[in-house]
Formats: sequence, structure tokens, C-alpha cells
Amino acid sequence: MNPAGFVGLGTMGGAMAANLARAGFPVTAWNRTAGRSSALVDLGVTLAASPAEVAAAADTVVVCVSDTPDVEAVLFGSQGVAAGAREGLLVIDCSTISPAATRQFSGRLAERRIAFVDAPVSGGSEGARNATLTIFAGGEAADVERAQPLLRAMGRTITHVGPVGSGQAVKAVNQVILAGTYLGVAEGIVLAMKAGLDVEQVVEALGGGAAQSWVLANRSGRMIANEYPLGFKVELHRKDLGIALELAREVGAVLPISALAAQLEAGLVGRGHAEEDMSALARTIRELSGLDG
Ligand code: NAP
Repeated sequence: MNPAGFVGLGTMGGAMAANLARAGFPVTAWNRTAGRSSALVDLGVTLAASPAEVAAAADTVVVCVSDTPDVEAVLFGSQGVAAGAREGLLVIDCSTISPAATRQFSGRLAERRIAFVDAPVSGGSEGARNATLTIFAGGEAADVERAQPLLRAMGRTITHVGPVGSGQAVKAVNQVILAGTYLGVAEGIVLAMKAGLDVEQVVEALGGGAAQSWVLANRSGRMIANEYPLGFKVELHRKDLGIALELAREVGAVLPISALAAQLEAGLVGRGHAEEDMSALARTIRELSGLDG
């Protein structure tokens, strides 16, 4: 198997890099903060001193960092991927970032004959651990084809959705739908609690009907317990809604639920809950309903 590189070993990237190693890829990886990767070393992953060093050791480099400026930094910084890459390298960006910036980054890489696919993911930290992610790939058909063996080692449902940037646009749609779903589930759970219902039974009963969803099945327990371990950070979803609202402005779409969710998430961040799972949206609904102090 061709050597693979990985840049960004956070909640998602660490688990995804591990799955590349388990699938048999020789993996060289880098993370900004050292010491997050001991489990990867046990899987045979080689740690590099910079993204440039990762690129020099690999045919394909997967990036999974937080936000648009972070992708720019690891690609184009003085020790970035572009600084160490040979012509013909393929970069797969699994971060969730701006579609417009993605097209710009791809253009800058193309000037150096580096191929690029945007491949943002959905499916949460569980999906990353279990290699069951849903992946939206944007790029030239040949590049997406070349990315497939790596994407298949990390995910289950992989769709080529169009040219570079399209993966990020589809991911924005995904995050908009999630905003409404999390808020809807939070309101339903709070209503059930205030109405004195057996909430666990309600969740089970609803699971067989039209209100069933991944959020109801996997995140309502946290909302009932009012405990929000990761998961997916509130601050990352707020970032994603910023991307979606920017895209909406560009194309003339009106997204009132997303704007509301972004504001509620800004409130959570301001009150010190940035690092909680985004199911913490229920925190606000619970408080507004007088369930908590
Ligand atoms: P995370 O746990 O906060 O990890 C972020 C990673 O990015 C860390 O490795 C961090 O390095 C690195 N990073 C951030 N800024 C950097 C910079 N300027 N230079 C170099 N490295 C930088 O986040 P995550 O949950 O893995 O999310 C990663 C991406 O996947 C995000 O775009 C997120 O929106 C997306 N995503 C997440 C989920 C989820 O459920 N968590 C689901 C789908 C998509 P340090 O260790 O040094 O901080």
C-alpha cells in the first residue's frame, strides 16, 4: 500500500489515522500539540516533526484540523504540507471549512502540481472510531478515485458530490439540518420532562416513528442527564453554522433556524461551554424552561 500522511490528530483525526494504520497503510503523522498520539505509535504510525515532513514521506496526505485558517496554516505555513510535497502529491482535506477558501487552497496547490480533494465527514466521533463515517468528496473524478482506498478505510458511505468545494457545501447543508434536529430533540426532551412523562420510554417509543433520528437515538440521553461529553464541540458547530450562513448569503438562501442555533451556541461559548458536545444546546432550553438553575 502507498504511504499515507496525516495532519491533525484531534478527536476525529486521531481515530481516522488509526483506521488508516489498521487498514495496512504505512502512516506518517503530525499533530501541533505533542503527546496526543501514543495509541497511534502502538499501531505502527511514525510521528513527524512538521506537516512538511509528513508530505515528504507520503503519496497522499489527509488533513483534519479545526477551521479554515488552520487548514491554510498546515498547508501553506513555512513548515506546511506544500513546503515538503513532491509534484503529484494528493491532499485530502477532511476538516469542515469554507467552500470558497477550499477552492482557493486547491488552486494554490494546483500551481505546485499538488492534487486536492475536499472530503468533510459526518458521523461523529463514533463514526471516526468505527470507520463508519459518511464522506462528501469534492474534486476531479480521477483525484476522488485516487482518494477512495483511504476514504474507504475511514468511512462507509462515500459520495463524489461535484468539483472541489462541493464536499464542503454539502457538509454545510448537513450542519444546517443538524442545527434544527438538535434543537428539535432538545425541545422535545424538555417538554417530556416538564410534562412528567417517562422520558426514556418516550425516546424509545418515538424511535419507531417519524420523529426518529440519529440525534434522538444517540444524543437524547445526554440531554436528559444534562451532561455533554464529546462528541462534537459546541464551538465547532458554531463555526460550521458560520460557514453555512456565509454560503447562504452568497446564494440568497434564508436560514432562520441556523441563525438561531448559532446565537444559542454563541451564548453557550460565552458561558464557558465551548468544549462540550453540541447536545449542550439542550442546556439552554432546559434553563429557559426552569429545569436547572
Ligand atoms: P479537535 O478534537 O478540536 O481537534 C482539532 C485538531 O486540529 C487538533 O489536532 C489540533 O491540534 C488541530 N489544529 C487546530 N488548529 C491548528 C493549527 N492552526 N495548526 C495545526 N493544527 C491545528 O476537533 P475534531 O472534533 O477532531 O474536529 C476536526 C475537524 O473535523 C473540524 O473541522 C470539525 O468541524 C470536523 N468534524 C468533527 C466532528 C466531530 O464529531 N468531532 C464530526 C465531523 C467533522 P492540537 O492538538 O495542537 O490542538
